[in-house]
Amino acid sequence: MKSNQITVEISDNRKEKPAFSSLQFGKTFTDHMFVMDYTEDQGWHHPRIVPYQPITLDPAATIFHYGQTVFEGLKAYLSENEEVFLFRPEENIKRLNRSCERLCIPQVDEEIALEALQKLVDIDREWIPNVEGMALYIRPFIISTEPNLDVTPSKSYTFMIILSPVGAFYKEGINPVKIAVEQEYVRAVRGGTGNAKTAGNYAGAMLAQKQSGKSGYSQVLWLDGKENKYIEEVGSMNVFFKINGEVVTPELSGSILEGITRKSVIELLKHWNVPVSERKISIDDIYDAYKNGQLEEAFGTGTAAVISPIGELFWKSEKLIINDGKTGELAKKIYDALTGIQTGKVEDPFGWRV
Ligand code: PMP
Repeated sequence: MKSNQITVEISDNRKEKPAFSSLQFGKTFTDHMFVMDYTEDQGWHHPRIVPYQPITLDPAATIFHYGQTVFEGLKAYLSENEEVFLFRPEENIKRLNRSCERLCIPQVDEEIALEALQKLVDIDREWIPNVEGMALYIRPFIISTEPNLDVTPSKSYTFMIILSPVGAFYKEGINPVKIAVEQEYVRAVRGGTGNAKTAGNYAGAMLAQKQSGKSGYSQVLWLDGKENKYIEEVGSMNVFFKINGEVVTPELSGSILEGITRKSVIELLKHWNVPVSERKISIDDIYDAYKNGQLEEAFGTGTAAVISPIGELFWKSEKLIINDGKTGELAKKIYDALTGIQTGKVEDPFGWRV
């Protein structure tokens, strides 16, 4: 199938754009969406951009019962010269396909997916907020659609891409968050689906998140599912610590999502000659570093916030205050570098901008 077969039906009923200043994450959607179907005999076929609209599914569709689904998340940014930039979108498509493999979903053609993404963003480019810090969030996802209550991989799927303008993550500049170390629940286990972007991981994480919110913490720090000892992720972000001049992040264990921001931060630090390593880090290592005065910074990384400094870690009834609860110098430097590249404000020596 040639990628130029993507057909386009332009909406003749354009929605009114909201005041971009009042946007809440993920609540507003643009005028169009991308759709492509999969059947066993035709494979992936009929790629199309159509007006944004509800879809109809059989109540017995596998997605509703067994959650056979994968998704991605990335952003389109508008530069000062009104150019539209994507940040490493091919990495998202590759990760989508890795998730597909784990969930027994047929992989999509990378070229078509990338072209669909670019074409859709271009058609709805007026929806990219031309306001500092704002962007158009892109959500590609695949659902299993076969009506079948038997627990087997679906024989039919739908791949869709929807777009949502999103506000600045930090309204008054980059701000540290308070995090509780999760001691009861786990997000993922070795051999499970933690390194796939699939709905069940997120549904299963909500209770811990809800409970930490009640105690005034914005996210939880997840420990491993076996020994409840090694650090994995923070909320739905990867996590980094600066200990005595060295930056460390948990090594990819199979239960950690391979973040594209994580990968970029590692590459950026290497480029700056800042020591960085991926290894197992126990919560006791962090506690000891804190007690020795060597825990200099901690921050989460992800598409939504880019960099989210951690000002406080709550662990076994003790509050560990990191860098006086303020944003660290390195976190700020990485944030400025990445957002600068994403929005076209600075040179992109890595070729990450598309
Ligand atoms: N971990 C989880 C569980 C996530 O959902 C995300 C967001 N995709 C991340 C980490 C960060 O990944 P990325 O940097 O690609 O946004």
